Amino acid sequence: MRADELQLFEVLDSRPAEGVVAFHDRRMLLYDAYAMGILRHELVETVGWKAARGLLTRLGYANGYRDAQTLKALFHWDTPEEWYKAGPLFHALEGKALPGQVRFVGIGDAQTFEAEIRWTNCFETEQHLHHLGTATEPVCWTLTGYLSGYFTACLDQEVYFVETECDATGQRGCRAVGKPRSAWGKALDRYLEFFKAASVQDQIAGLERAVRQHRQAASHHRQEAARWKSLAQHAGGPDGPMAKSGGMREVLDLAQRVAAADSTVLLTGESGTGKELVARWIHARSPRAKGPFVAVNCGALPEPLLESELFGHVRGAFTGAVRDKRGLLEEANHGTLLLDEIADTPAPIQVKLLRALQEREIRRVGGTTTIRVDPRVLAATNKNLERAVARREFRRDLYYRLNVVNIDIPPLRDRREDIVPLARLFLERNARAQGKTIRAISAEALDLLTLYPWPGNVRELENVVERAVVLATRDRITVAELPPSLRAGQAPADFGEMRMPQSLKELERRAILAGLERHQGNRSRTARELQISPQTLWRKLKEYQATPSGH
Ligand SMILES: [Zn+2]
Repeated sequence: MRADELQLFEVLDSRPAEGVVAFHDRRMLLYDAYAMGILRHELVETVGWKAARGLLTRLGYANGYRDAQTLKALFHWDTPEEWYKAGPLFHALEGKALPGQVRFVGIGDAQTFEAEIRWTNCFETEQHLHHLGTATEPVCWTLTGYLSGYFTACLDQEVYFVETECDATGQRGCRAVGKPRSAWGKALDRYLEFFKAASVQDQIAGLERAVRQHRQAASHHRQEAARWKSLAQHAGGPDGPMAKSGGMREVLDLAQRVAAADSTVLLTGESGTGKELVARWIHARSPRAKGPFVAVNCGALPEPLLESELFGHVRGAFTGAVRDKRGLLEEANHGTLLLDEIADTPAPIQVKLLRALQEREIRRVGGTTTIRVDPRVLAATNKNLERAVARREFRRDLYYRLNVVNIDIPPLRDRREDIVPLARLFLERNARAQGKTIRAISAEALDLLTLYPWPGNVRELENVVERAVVLATRDRITVAELPPSLRAGQAPADFGEMRMPQSLKELERRAILAGLERHQGNRSRTARELQISPQTLWRKLKEYQATPSGH
């Protein structure tokens, strides 16, 4: 038997009574090429180019391998070469392509065997061009798979075909070269994956593994940064400088207990008390410590920006949205999200936040699919949220959702035991950062720091120490390096609008009024203290009555 003597009608056995078309003992199917094209297109669209190519390559491979076995069993071939040639020809008989030149080298030697096979008018290029357009790489996936399977069966060793030219890329005809695996060497590496069966599940698992590793690396990095910061800032936590006072010990004790739970926590306290630090402290001690810590200031962004920041957006959701973006609720997955300045959240965002917290799923701006999210949410505010609820500025349901546990951080003036250790910590840190050798704070300076009411809390203390380190010329901080407000032993009347006295007159006025207050309105004692005559004091007071203060 020779290859060119093959006739399909002779080998195919149609049995209408059984509803079977058989090729020897195998049931064969006739498929519409266009329907195959649709399937192929859909595979590319749904599982992606690589996975689709793999599936179709392996479909061809199985077909080729089985055809070779059947053709061998069915006929007595004149030479092995005739049996080899029958494969590509059988393709034509099955209506898949028109075979062209077939060339073999080293037949009979499994090591040096090489085949070059050409074909045209292939159903696969036709369907590819129809559904997906001109290709940049050869697309006869089932055909190269078929040839690989066929020749692997013939030579009884792994033979792989690689298509080097293809109609679909604008070349005239398709050409594939086949060699045993060993002869290919490294050149085969990028094609081998298409022959290996890997389920979509496996591929997804692989992707997930990669993403997880990437995330772990990133979060480890952040974790290290946070740990350093946390160490520097708390010097060890409950026993560190931040918690010498009973008030702060209570705060950190409560924080320690809620860290283990997954509940929402509302952190309240004046501005500068360190709400974010406590939030980071909770995160670092929670089961989510390995996950990310993400903070967002809800009062700092206009509504549309805040919405896209929190929930993400899809490409084209608005001008400038050139690609899909994950929101912070997604970013904080398996980690902690701090919603800072929660009281200033615009009303429409409050509704969406509530829904996200209740349903644990979100929809990106402009998106239609819901995405599961799993952040632990902490919220912080320096405002009275309850009052905002009463004034209908803040949603009551969201308030209850956030205020599962309330941690109120006391102002620094109510925990004076923390002032000195904190000041020393900030000194050490700033001196190191500025490359200065400053070992101590003088006793008088420490007294002033302890007496001052600290309306700006820990942040103000940190700023004062930083400034002192900049100004210091010797190895210790003295009263001279402290700001005038501290030296005067009192806080500005309203820290929020702190300003320097505008003139000497203003300074004088403040000194006189403060003196009167100290002496319960006694003018002669006030005058004596200020070293002015009672007449001058009387004249000044008349002046102040005529020109009321700007406060
Ligand atoms: Zn091709």
